[in-house]
Amino acid sequence: MGIFVTEECTGCKLCIRSCPFAAIEIKDNQAVILDNCTLCGSCESVCPVQAIKIEKEEKTKDFSDYKNVWVFGEQREGDLNSVVHELVGQGRRLANKLKENLSVILPGYQNIAQAKELINYGVDKVYLIDKKELAEYNDEYYTYVMAELIKKYNPSIVLMGATTIGRSLGPRVAARIKTGLTADCTSLDIDDKSKILLQTRPAFGGNIMATIVCKNHRPQMATVRPGVMKAAEKRENYEGIISKEDLDLSKVILKTEVIDIVREIEDSINIAEADIIVSGGRGVGSGENFNLIRELADTLGGAVGASRAAVDSGWISHDHQVGQTGTTVAPRIYIACGISGAVQHLVGMKSSDIIIAINKDPGASIFNYATYGLVGDLFKIIPLLIEQLKSGAT
Ligand code: FAD
Ligand code: SF4
Repeated sequence: MGIFVTEECTGCKLCIRSCPFAAIEIKDNQAVILDNCTLCGSCESVCPVQAIKIEKEEKTKDFSDYKNVWVFGEQREGDLNSVVHELVGQGRRLANKLKENLSVILPGYQNIAQAKELINYGVDKVYLIDKKELAEYNDEYYTYVMAELIKKYNPSIVLMGATTIGRSLGPRVAARIKTGLTADCTSLDIDDKSKILLQTRPAFGGNIMATIVCKNHRPQMATVRPGVMKAAEKRENYEGIISKEDLDLSKVILKTEVIDIVREIEDSINIAEADIIVSGGRGVGSGENFNLIRELADTLGGAVGASRAAVDSGWISHDHQVGQTGTTVAPRIYIACGISGAVQHLVGMKSSDIIIAINKDPGASIFNYATYGLVGDLFKIIPLLIEQLKSGAT
């Protein structure tokens, strides 16, 4: 693509205001496009004499040099984030469909044990970058490492968790290597014909699911919501290799420095990682009534979730919210109590293995997704369940 200004330009300056990147100047009564122009096209339509032209390349690009699926091996203090195993599971499926390899790119410090562990989950190659500077996450170092290795090895797909780190790193890497990024995907697949990555995520407030493709740039990059994809299973004696990469980090100009790390004190279980979740909705009726939901969760050894209606009513904090604007979960058992099953709630829990719904309205849409449905008043059903569970009945 290219942009140029034709002789018709009158120097009226209308385009200057339209440019969100301040990338136009007037020199000698003519608009001049500066180097920081992103070709966003905002100026093209405002020019009254159509003097700004953006040429779009039509020719099909050859991406035959780009191969293999990569996962970013996010870790903190030597522990891999659980989303890495989910991405490895999904990455394996994509790589198998493409008949390509699955690799994990693993920046960190003294992280050889993590690399070996990843091979046991069906990873063909781990690119290991073992440097003291990479012990803690740092935007500049990690962006440099990712971008350099992507440029060196040309993967066709790069996946990261839509975690705090992934959400910071993904766009920086994509901008550095000039490719696209689809944030917060909830499903990924390969188009059978074109072999392009189909990246699906909720759009327009969750009312539709949009499938996005990256046709003209490589690699195809996506961040993926934690808890949505099934984690990879352990495969004993899987044969993969560890490739040690030596990068000169002294070239990186640091604009930030980690001085101290202050840990947040968590007063609740992380629902994204809970095996059993008991969630309450508007049907629970009050904050006090949530004690019943907590009692059932405690009896089952699970965590407490909630719908947005319950959170917005102030009955429980936002950390517990499940759904599009809350946490995405995929526990073994999800019990929805007094929750109607709005699409924004469903998108955050429908991958659960077993869904049990308790609702007094037999027409509630949650029942369309439930493995087991109990029609009735939750204030009668839950105490009976607790009593049975406490008495040891199964
Ligand atoms: P309701 O829809 O009011 O359902 C209450 C249910 O309780 C009813 O089905 C009723 O039959 C049942 N009930 C009542 N009393 C009893 C009883 N005694 N026993 C048994 N059942 C009973 N929602 C989320 O949950 N998570 C999100 O992340 C989220 N994000 C959103 C983002 C956007 C942009 C928008 C627009 C909405 C979002 N929502 C989200 C809101 C969502 O659309 C619904 O409004 C919300 O999920 C409804 O919560 P609910 O099912 O608890 O309440
Ligand atoms: Fe020139 Fe068109 Fe920009 Fe006016 S809007 S300065 S005519 S390019």
